[in-house]
Amino acid sequence: MEGKASESGIAAMADHYKNFDPATYLNNFLVPEVSRLDKEDSHLSWILSRLHRAFSEGDMKGDLLVDIGSGPSLHQVMSACEVFNKVVLTDFLEVNRNELKLWLQNGSSKIDWTPFLKKICELEGRSPSEWTEKAARLRQVVTDVLPVDVHRPQPLALDALHPSGANCILSTFCLECVSPDLDAFNKALGHIGGLLRPGGHLVIIGCLEESYYYGGPGVKIPVVPVDDAQLCKSLKENGFTLIRLEIFQDPDTNKASDEKGIFAVKARKS
Ligand code: SAH
Repeated sequence: MEGKASESGIAAMADHYKNFDPATYLNNFLVPEVSRLDKEDSHLSWILSRLHRAFSEGDMKGDLLVDIGSGPSLHQVMSACEVFNKVVLTDFLEVNRNELKLWLQNGSSKIDWTPFLKKICELEGRSPSEWTEKAARLRQVVTDVLPVDVHRPQPLALDALHPSGANCILSTFCLECVSPDLDAFNKALGHIGGLLRPGGHLVIIGCLEESYYYGGPGVKIPVVPVDDAQLCKSLKENGFTLIRLEIFQDPDTNKASDEKGIFAVKARKS
């Protein structure tokens, strides 16, 4: 019974995503943040600085990073692209994969990524004018944009990765936003962990205690609310050793979601 309930919940989530619209998503969650990138306490500054720290500590490098549920977004891999030889982007929806491919192939995308690239150059102690080099580096290291489904025990196509797995799995605002309940969230975490080689790293950022967000015009997507205690439990149950969990209590009220804050996790596969 429980399996059936979970299966129908997962199918219902997939239905919600049929009307996801990349432009609306970017306009709801990233565009309004651009003017506040200089403010330390802004939502996006916090995310970018956590990612910068996670990828500049010297403990994560290697052949391959896989970003799970990239959406139409690129900011989440702009720090990581400096320390991995290969970055694979993934998403469940073709519209999102196409949006990513457009930018990678030098096409015009729905958002100008320049301010994000400049901000990350600044975090790295480089001149913002070096953003063009960062853009070139990102285009060079992203080797694939692949379909993914975190609810499958094998989320990527069988031959998508080298059998030894990835050095790092990154995922931002995905697992809780695509899972109908905590059981599915837990399992999805285990599935993406399965893509990691032993000793590999997991970096996840997501929303705390959120129950919905708007992913398209009038497209209200349910989110499974998670808190820090639940997160730690899920990581432990799935064989991860926590390195760091940080929480940002968001002072802003973005009307496109009821998020209460953000978590950032760095963990290691035992
Ligand atoms: N990581 C991006 C996008 C997050 S939005 C960012 O931080 O901005 C959530 C994403 O999960 C969407 O792009 C959606 O297409 C994707 N998604 C939906 N169902 C999924 C599934 N079953 N497996 C993996 N990703 C899924």
